[in-house]
Amino acid sequence: MLDIAGLSHRYADGHQAVEDVELHVARGELVSIVGPSGCGKSTLLRCVAGLQRPSAGDISVAGRAVDGVPDDLAVVFQDYTRSLFPWLTVRDNVALPLRRRGLDRAERRARALAALAQVGLDGTAGKYPWQLSGGMQQRVAIARALAYRPALLLMDEPFGSVDAQTREDLEDLLLSVRGGTDGPGTDAPGTPAPGTEGMTILLVTHDIDESVYVADRVVVLTGAPGRVHSELPVELPAPRDQIGTRALPAFVRLRTEVGRAVRRPCTP
Ligand code: ADP
Repeated sequence: MLDIAGLSHRYADGHQAVEDVELHVARGELVSIVGPSGCGKSTLLRCVAGLQRPSAGDISVAGRAVDGVPDDLAVVFQDYTRSLFPWLTVRDNVALPLRRRGLDRAERRARALAALAQVGLDGTAGKYPWQLSGGMQQRVAIARALAYRPALLLMDEPFGSVDAQTREDLEDLLLSVRGGTDGPGTDAPGTPAPGTEGMTILLVTHDIDESVYVADRVVVLTGAPGRVHSELPVELPAPRDQIGTRALPAFVRLRTEVGRAVRRPCTP
């Protein structure tokens, strides 16, 4: 689904943000990207999203070279206050990108309401974002991405602006829409929510535990300029849950390994 080869980016001021990154992500996979602050995680994501043209290298999504924002892509950023339109209702915020999908008004509204239900936000459709808590606003941003049913979902520190409890709830929400927990939005434990089957997700996070808890694979970048330091498959059983999964010896081993790699980023 996503192929990155020889990706390097140097900003106009000469700063080399990422260097020779090689990454291949299969359809349906959830890959976390971690690394020391400033190692180029967001730069990498912006290049994949077509928002930043890399200085060198190739990126393709579903076999098509990225040379602008790909059609089948959605992005969830950390700062929900800047990604939701305050003058649009929650439903209209979620429905807006669906115009690009060529859906008529009734279909857009129906899909927006279904996505809001998926993230546990029934009953908020007519409200404005500023009438909701921070965690609820980030759910709206996630609902908007899910309603679009992208083949590739990019998430840049999506849970970085909410409190610890909400963060855990949102991690579980992400797992539940993929069928990994029995949280809101799933018809049954282990069943992906409609439209999310096969969705590929790239998640940038600085939270080591989170990177392991939600992912199928963790990719650790070196310190600046970011290169791939190591890749660790996460073979934890599903459904995952915040208490049980984090207590598993396999989880503890993995988080230790990722933590070591992030703290000693130059010695693979
Ligand atoms: P991370 O997400 O890992 O914290 P970033 O991709 O945001 O890292 O940034 C990587 C490096 O590139 C940092 O040193 C940052 O200051 C620099 N950088 C980011 N954006 C720009 C820009 N527009 N111009 C110049 N340097 C930038």
